[in-house]
Amino acid sequence: MSIKLEHINYIYGEGTAYRKQALKDVSLEIPHGQFVGIIGHTGSGKSTLIQHLNGLIRATDGKFYFNGEDVYAEGYSMRNLRNEVGLVFQYPEHQLFEVDVLTDVCFGPKNQGLPKEECEKRAKEALEAVGFPEKYYGQSPFDLSGGQKRRVAIAGVLAMQPKVLVLDEPTAGLDPKGRDEILDQIAELHRQGDMTVVLVSHSMEDVAKYVERLIVMNHGEMVFDDTPKNVFSHYKELEEMGLAAPQITYIMHALSENGLNVDTTATTVEEARDTILEALKKQKPSLLKKGGRSE
Ligand code: ADP
Repeated sequence: MSIKLEHINYIYGEGTAYRKQALKDVSLEIPHGQFVGIIGHTGSGKSTLIQHLNGLIRATDGKFYFNGEDVYAEGYSMRNLRNEVGLVFQYPEHQLFEVDVLTDVCFGPKNQGLPKEECEKRAKEALEAVGFPEKYYGQSPFDLSGGQKRRVAIAGVLAMQPKVLVLDEPTAGLDPKGRDEILDQIAELHRQGDMTVVLVSHSMEDVAKYVERLIVMNHGEMVFDDTPKNVFSHYKELEEMGLAAPQITYIMHALSENGLNVDTTATTVEEARDTILEALKKQKPSLLKKGGRSE
């Protein structure tokens, strides 16, 4: 289920005083199965971009091919596109509304016209995939904690078994533990499933840890599209856009500037630990011995 956008422009409020060009000449190809991150400051066009992916908004001009088919051609089934591309909005728990968790998660597959047993089967699989405890299936979604509500909302999209899962800041407002758990589960789903994942995030640490490809948006334009490591090597340019590299990048550069020969492209804590230890072993072995630890 590949995605191909060609020269997409999107303008809000064309012909009014509020005209705003939110996307400028965006071209992008995502092969099936990739885990892609999108970052950018508020208002850079991230939400507008991802709403194109399931046809919620239609480009002012440009082309969109889903699995080789022209989405904007006459007769193309938008319903089909929405079944294949599941979009989890920011604060998706605001859209929970059914009397209990299981019924809520069944809503999507029911809408797809699936029989009741199949809906329940899919809903249970989806709830299990996001780590939601079975004993609360009968609970009102409104009585759950913030993290659990978020899980139910994500399960509601997963139950439709999309081939592409698009998440707009899925961890916004969660505490660090809830944030890590949800992202770990999404990464696990990506590993196990036959699914493309597009993750919009504000957190450089999160994208560095999880995604294989990172797209940076700035004022409606796609300014970087590369591996997270390569993108973060432009940390000075990112700063000019009001963004920053992961904190680790700054620590690595500071250590290097102070004479420790570390790999400055390390972006995760684990990579940083390895390269610091390696450099210490070579340059300052006595430091490691003094602390009584060799690792
Ligand atoms: P992001 O998700 O990166 O915060 P958005 O895609 O929401 O960015 O917004 C991109 C630009 O489009 C911003 O300047 C924003 O103010 C504008 N915009 C977003 N939604 C609307 C709308 N419904 N009407 C008019 N302008 C909008």
